[in-house]
Amino acid sequence: MKDTFDIAVFRGDGIGPEIMQPTVDILNMLADRGGYALMFSDCPAGAAHYAQTGEALPTASMQAAREADAILLSAMGLPSVRYPDGTEISPQIDLRKAFELFAGVRPVRICAGQRTPLNMPAGKSVDFVLIRESTEGLFHTQGCGEVTEDEARETLLITRRTSELLFQFAFRLAGERKSSGRSPGRVTCVDKANVFRAFAFFRQIFDTEAARHPELASDHAYVDATALWFVQKPWEFDVLVTENMFGDILSDLGAGLMGGLGVAPSADIGVNHAVFQPCHGSAPDIAGQGIANPFAMILSAAMMLEWLGTRHQNAALLADGARLRGATESVIAEGITVTGDLGGKASTKEAAGAVGAALAAA
Ligand code: NAD
Repeated sequence: MKDTFDIAVFRGDGIGPEIMQPTVDILNMLADRGGYALMFSDCPAGAAHYAQTGEALPTASMQAAREADAILLSAMGLPSVRYPDGTEISPQIDLRKAFELFAGVRPVRICAGQRTPLNMPAGKSVDFVLIRESTEGLFHTQGCGEVTEDEARETLLITRRTSELLFQFAFRLAGERKSSGRSPGRVTCVDKANVFRAFAFFRQIFDTEAARHPELASDHAYVDATALWFVQKPWEFDVLVTENMFGDILSDLGAGLMGGLGVAPSADIGVNHAVFQPCHGSAPDIAGQGIANPFAMILSAAMMLEWLGTRHQNAALLADGARLRGATESVIAEGITVTGDLGGKASTKEAAGAVGAALAAA
């Protein structure tokens, strides 16, 4: 069984390096005890790198990412550093396109005790996964939409190939969640099929995949109603799958339900590659102060361990991913050693240290 894994590390911009270092330290601690090895290689890239060298994503970093077993990325981009056309440096989007990372996985979990703007009924907890298609949809013409003096156009693209891969992924995930006892096993296709032919097409492909999984439930929901239900009854969701722009918006709503971007992890997964990174950006307004919340980064690393464990049938990685998630969620729910964005006073180092302590105590 494979027990050594190469991880390409993009420390990124702004708070990126501050949240990446404690995350790598925790992963090294787990690997030492878990009987597997994680070999980290640093991949320079991002806005600061572009400002220094004129390159946003060097070929060597791209190659290291291509050869790695997984890619761990903090956040990239700085509003003050831009290409000559005025757009921002965003190698995280370039990676998504280059490696065809079609499944943007955004878990939304609210544990007992966790701060949330929701009025949670007693006994309810929230544990669902939003899957955002991440390579096409309304982002298809990103950067090359047509703009004239009087009008602007962007094109939404839904392809059969990507949609089939996306729905296969969604049903596989729902099956794994059902068999682990985490959920009843249901996939909801979130669309706007009442208005747009492209979404009727999307839904038709979904229904074909659903028919292959009689053991799982499936249904449809319009995106506007889904936004309402995110607030009214999110405990009823299991796996939601949707188009790129709808997913972009709903995932920030999901982060808001969990208490903010600082606790929202994500993964961008394709057939052969995967990038694990927090949902938030480089937060230049708080960079260099040691106060950034490291939990979204650490939870993304936990997703990486679980993904590697499933892919390589490595039980130690799977167990450590679940332990790391559990330890981080326990610190979040306790609400004591947490950073300012969660109402606490802890530094990045102290908050990450609390996760290390929870792991040691578990
Ligand atoms: P942002 O997510 O960086 O910050 C939004 C707000 O949330 C800020 O007030 C920030 O201080 C706070 N915040 C974010 N992460 C936090 C954390 N871990 N702990 C505590 N507070 C946190 O979004 P933005 O300000 O719109 O973007 C800043 C830069 O990041 C831009 O250059 C943008 O392009 C880039 N960006 C990158 C990614 C990515 O790498 N995936 C995602 C979004 C934005």
